[in-house]
Amino acid sequence: MAAAAPLPGPVEVNQFIDKLNSEYEKAHVEYEKNFWSTKMKLAGASSEALSTSKTEYDQFLADKSRLAAVRQQLATPGITEDQRKVLAIAEKTFKTYVAEDPRVAEYSAKLNELEAELAAARNAMALGWTDAQGTFHKASSVQLRNSMRTSDDEATRKACYEGLRSIGPFVAEKFAAIVKLRQQLARTAGFQNYYAMKLEQAEGFGMDVLFGMLDGLELDTRPIMEGARKSLAEDKGEECLRPWNIGYSLAGDVEKKLDPYMSFESAVGVWARTFAALGIRYRDATMALDLCDREGKYSNGFCHWPQPAYFKTDGTWVASRTNFTSLATPSAVGSGKTALVTLLHEGGHAAHFANVLQRSPLASQERAPTSVAYAETQSMFLDSLAGDAAWLGRYARNIAGEVLPWAVIEEKIRSVQPYESFMVRSMLSVPYFEKALYELPDDEVTAERIVALADEIENSIEGGPAPRPLMSVPHILSDESSAYYHGYCLAEMAVHQTRAHFLAKYGRLVDEPRIGKDLAEVYWAPGNAEPYLSLVEKLTGAPLTAAAWVKELQTPLKQKLEEEKHDYKAAVAAGPAIAPGQEPDLGMRVLLVHGDEQIADSAEGGLAAACETYKAWIRKTWPAAPATAAA
Ligand SMILES: [Zn+2]
Repeated sequence: MAAAAPLPGPVEVNQFIDKLNSEYEKAHVEYEKNFWSTKMKLAGASSEALSTSKTEYDQFLADKSRLAAVRQQLATPGITEDQRKVLAIAEKTFKTYVAEDPRVAEYSAKLNELEAELAAARNAMALGWTDAQGTFHKASSVQLRNSMRTSDDEATRKACYEGLRSIGPFVAEKFAAIVKLRQQLARTAGFQNYYAMKLEQAEGFGMDVLFGMLDGLELDTRPIMEGARKSLAEDKGEECLRPWNIGYSLAGDVEKKLDPYMSFESAVGVWARTFAALGIRYRDATMALDLCDREGKYSNGFCHWPQPAYFKTDGTWVASRTNFTSLATPSAVGSGKTALVTLLHEGGHAAHFANVLQRSPLASQERAPTSVAYAETQSMFLDSLAGDAAWLGRYARNIAGEVLPWAVIEEKIRSVQPYESFMVRSMLSVPYFEKALYELPDDEVTAERIVALADEIENSIEGGPAPRPLMSVPHILSDESSAYYHGYCLAEMAVHQTRAHFLAKYGRLVDEPRIGKDLAEVYWAPGNAEPYLSLVEKLTGAPLTAAAWVKELQTPLKQKLEEEKHDYKAAVAAGPAIAPGQEPDLGMRVLLVHGDEQIADSAEGGLAAACETYKAWIRKTWPAAPATAAA
C-alpha cells in the first residue's frame, strides 16, 4: 500500500509520536493476541497472560503522566498543525481514561465491585418459567424470548414473560445502590449526571443535542406505532397486544422459505462479492474468520482488531489485522442467513477500521473515544443491504443457481413492514428510561421506584407493557454498556439518511462501486479524529435527523411492495456485478480457520479458491448440512 508523505514538523515531536504509537501498539496487540487465543481455546492459551496484558493495557491508557507528556508536547515551539492533530487524538483518548480527581478512581473501583456482585447474583439467579403443573424450567433470557415468539401455548408464553419480568425486582435493590454511586462519581467528575457524563465521553455532545434528535424520532413515530397497534388488535384480536402475544402473532415461517437461498457454505463468497462490487478495499489488511461452533469456544460472536491501521510519521503504512468469530452450526436452519448478515455487519466494521488514515493507532481502535454510533453506522449500513430486494434478487440463490422467488420477498415485507415501528419504539424506550433514571432525585433512587419507572416508560413509549421488559435489558446494568443504547438509535437514523443520500446521488446502492470510495473518503479516513455528527453532515449534506427513517416507516405497504418489486426485477435481469466463482478483489488476505486448524488462505490461489476449499471442508465436516448452496 502506498506510503504517505512524512509528517512535517519538529523532529523531536515526531520521535515522541513514534514512541507513543509503538508503545500503545505493543500493549494493544499483546492484549488482543491473548484475548483471541483464550476465547478460541488455542494451544498455549493462558488466562493469566490475558489478565496481565489486560491490566497493562488499562494502565497504559489511565496513566496520568502520559497525558501530561502529551500536553507538554502540544506546547512545543514550531509544532505543525499535522502534529497537533495527532497529539489531539492522544489527548482525547487519555482524557477518557485518566481520572483527574482521585475520588473518581475510588468510586470507580467501588462500582467495579458492586457491578461484579450484581453480575454474579444475576448469573446465579434461578431464571426460567413455571408450567401449569407448577414445575419450574430453567431458561436463559434468550431462550425465554425465543419461546415467547414460537410456543403455540399461550400459558407457556405468559410464563416466559413472567420469567423475564422477574429479573427487574431481583436486581433492583443492588442496581439502585449502583445508580446512586454512578451519580456521585459523575458529579465529582463535574457532570450534571451519569448519563450526561457517559454521553460527553463517548459522543462529545450533550443531553440536549441527543434528546433533540431522539425527540424528533419519538414524536414522528408515535402515531405510526399507535396505528399499528390499533390495526393489529382489529385484525387479530385485542389479546395480541398482550406483551407475551405480540411477537408470536407477528412471527411467520417466511425465514424457513428463505433458508435454501442463503446457505452457510456460500456466505463468505457472497459477502466478498457484495463488498468488492461496492468498491470496498481493505488496504492490505489480514482477516482471520473462525465461523463455526466447537466445544470450548467462547459462546459469543465478536470481531476485534488486534492490529489497528495507521501511518507512521515517516509515512509507512501499517495495515490492520482482524479476528472475527461466530458460532454457526452449518447444518442448522437459518445458519446461512445469520452468517451472511454477521459477515456484512462485522465485515463492515472491519472495512471501516482498515481504512482509517491517521498517524496514530489511537485513531483506529474501537474503544472510547471512538463513538459507538459512528462505528455502528458503518456496519448497520452495510448489513441493511441484505434486506433489499435489489440485493436479494442478485445474491440470494439456491444450489441450482435459481434466484429467490419474489413471492417469498413479498411475504416477508407484508409480515414485517406494517409493524416496524414496534422495533423503533422498543429501541427508543431504553435511552428514555435511562434518562429518566439518571434524572431522578437521589432520595427517589429506590428499588420500588426504579421498577415502577420502567413500567411507566414502557407504557409511554411502547404503548403498553413491553415484550422485552426494560429491566431485562442487560445493557443498563454494566458500566461499559449503560447509557449508550442511544448509539443504536443514532446509527439507525444515520443508516437511513446515508441510504437516502446514495440513492439520490447514484440511483442505487447494491453493486455501486462509488459507494465504497465515498464511505472510505468521508466516513472512514478520519477515524475518531473528527466528531461523528459532522461526518454524517459532510457525507449526506444535512445534519443528522430521523427524517429519512420516518419516511421509510410512513411508506404505505402497497407503495413499498411496488418499489421493491421494481428493484427485484431489475436485479434479476442484471445479476450480480461479480458472478459466483469469479475472483472478488478486496485488497485483503483472508484466512479461514477453525481453532488452531487453518482451512484456507486467500494468499494461496485467491479468495474465490479459498471459498471453494472452505466449502469442501464444511461439506466434509457437517455431512448433514443441506446441500442448498449457490456458488
Ligand atoms: Zn456492530
